Amino acid sequence: MPVRPASEARPEIHVPVVVIGAGACGLTAALTLHGQGTEVLVLERDPRPAGSTSLSAGLIPAAGTRLQRDKGIEDDPDLFASDLAAKAHGENDPEVVRAVAHASGPTIDWLVGEQGLDLHLVEGFTYPGHSRLRMHGPKTQTGADLEAMLLAAAERAGIDILTGASVEDLFADESGRVVAVGARRPDGAEEIVGCEAVVLACNGFGGNPDLVRRHIPEMAEAEYCGHTSNTGDALAWGQALGAAAADLGSYQGHGSVPRPHSAPLTWAVITLGGFQVNAEGLRFANEMRGYSEHAGEVLKQPGRFAWDIYDARCEAPALAFHDYREFKRLGAIKEAGSLSELAAVTGLPEAALAATLAEVKRCGTGAGTDPFGRDFTACRPLAPPYRAAKVTGALFHTQGGLAVDSRARVLRPDGSALPNLLAGGGAARGLSGPSAWGYLSGNGLLSAVVLGRLAGLSAARLVRG
Ligand SMILES: Cc1cc2nc3c(=O)[nH]c(=O)nc-3n(C[C@H](O)[C@H](O)[C@H](O)COP(=O)(O)OP(=O)(O)OC[C@H]3O[C@@H](n4cnc5c(N)ncnc54)[C@H](O)[C@@H]3O)c2cc1C
Repeated sequence: MPVRPASEARPEIHVPVVVIGAGACGLTAALTLHGQGTEVLVLERDPRPAGSTSLSAGLIPAAGTRLQRDKGIEDDPDLFASDLAAKAHGENDPEVVRAVAHASGPTIDWLVGEQGLDLHLVEGFTYPGHSRLRMHGPKTQTGADLEAMLLAAAERAGIDILTGASVEDLFADESGRVVAVGARRPDGAEEIVGCEAVVLACNGFGGNPDLVRRHIPEMAEAEYCGHTSNTGDALAWGQALGAAAADLGSYQGHGSVPRPHSAPLTWAVITLGGFQVNAEGLRFANEMRGYSEHAGEVLKQPGRFAWDIYDARCEAPALAFHDYREFKRLGAIKEAGSLSELAAVTGLPEAALAATLAEVKRCGTGAGTDPFGRDFTACRPLAPPYRAAKVTGALFHTQGGLAVDSRARVLRPDGSALPNLLAGGGAARGLSGPSAWGYLSGNGLLSAVVLGRLAGLSAARLVRG
C-alpha cells in the first residue's frame, strides 16, 4: 500500500473529497459531506458494500438522544465519557473521548431525524460498564440492517459509491498533502481520482494475519470474525505519510461465539445471571468485566472453549437478536429441564456443575463471595428450564490505529495534523486504550459512526478552505 509522489498522479477525474470504505464510518462521513454541500465519492473494495458493519449487531451507544428521552432515560455526555474512561482505566485519549461522547447523541438524532434511519433504543438490560441504557440500533439488532439503512440514505442523497474499487495508492506531496488516490478495478486497470481531502474509513487490520501476529499475539490463533477485506491499508498509508499510530495491541474480542457460526451470542444472557464454565464444569473468571477481554480467558481453558450456562429468563432479551434466533434454529442452544439433563446435553460433569450452580446461588444471596469478584446479588438465581451454548473466544476487530484529534484529523507524532487526511472507525485509534480490557460495548460502531461524522465535518471545512 504505497504512497507515491504527487508528480506521478494523472487523475482522470476530480472530486473534492474521497472516502475510502463503505462501512458505517465511510457512509456516515459521506452523508455528512453531502449534508454540508460537499461533493464526495466513496470507493469500496468489495463488489457489494458490507464491511464488518454488516457482521455486527448494529448497536451504537450514544448519550442524550431523543430516543432515550422518549423512554424517560436521563443520560448525559459527561457520564458517557466517564464510563468510556473508566473501562479503559483512563488510558484512552481524553479529548477524543469527550468529543465523541458529546457528538454521539446529536449524531444519532441526525441519523434518525434527518437521514431517516429507523433506529430504536435497546431496553431490558445494560451492557457491562454502561451506566445507562444507551444502545441504539435497528429493531432487528443486526448490522446488516444498519448498513442497509445507511446505503439507502446514501442512495436517497444521490451519493456516488464506486464498488469493486480497491484503493492501492495514495499520491502525496512533500508536506503530506494527498492530491489523488489510485483504485484497482476488477479488470486490473488503475483509476486515479484527484481530491482535496481523504477520509480513511477502511477499518483496521483484523483481516491481516501478519499484522495481528505482530501487534496482538494472543489473538494470532483465534478465529477472526470480522470482514476479511480489512487488511490494515489505512495504517500503512498513514504511517508512510508520517502519522503516529497508537494502541495497536488493542482489539475487540468476544468470549461467547458459538462454533461454527462466527457471530456473537449476546452477552445479555450473562449479564442477567448466566455464567461460563469450562470443560470441567468450573467457572474461571469474572464475566462482568466484559465480553471483549473474556475472549482471552475462554481461549486459555482446556480445549479453548467454554459453555454459557443460563436459563429461560436470561434468554428473553436475547430473543430480540436475529443472530440468537438463528443460533436456536440451527441447534446451537441446548435446552434442559433439570440439572441432570443439563449435564447430559453438555457432557459436563454433573457433580461439578451442581457445585458451581450452588456456589453462584450462595453468592447471589450474599452468603458467599465470588472468588473472581463478580457481584451476583442483583441477579435472580438460575432456575430450570436451563439453556447452554458451547462457545469460544474470537477476534472481532482491531481497536488500535492512526492517532486522530477530536476533529478526526490524522496526527503526526508531534501532535500536528496532516494537511488533509481524516480517519474514523477501525482506521483510527479507538476509544479502548491499549488492550482488550478497555473495550466498552459499542466502542466499534461508536468510533465508526461518530468519528465518521466528525471526519465528514472536518473534510467539508477543509474543502471550503
Ligand atoms: C461479529 C461482529 C460483531 C460486532 N458487533 C458490534 C456491535 O454490536 N457494536 C459495535 O459497536 N461494534 C461491533 N462490532 C465492531 C464493528 O462492526 C466495527 O467496529 C465497525 O463496523 C467498523 O466500521 P468501519 O466503517 O470502520 O469498518 P467496516 O464496516 O469494516 O468498513 C470498512 C470497509 O472498507 C473497505 N476497504 C478496506 N480496505 C479498502 C481499500 N484499500 N480500498 C477500498 N475499500 C477498502 C472494506 O471492504 C469495508 O467495506 C462487531 C464486529 C464483528 C466482527
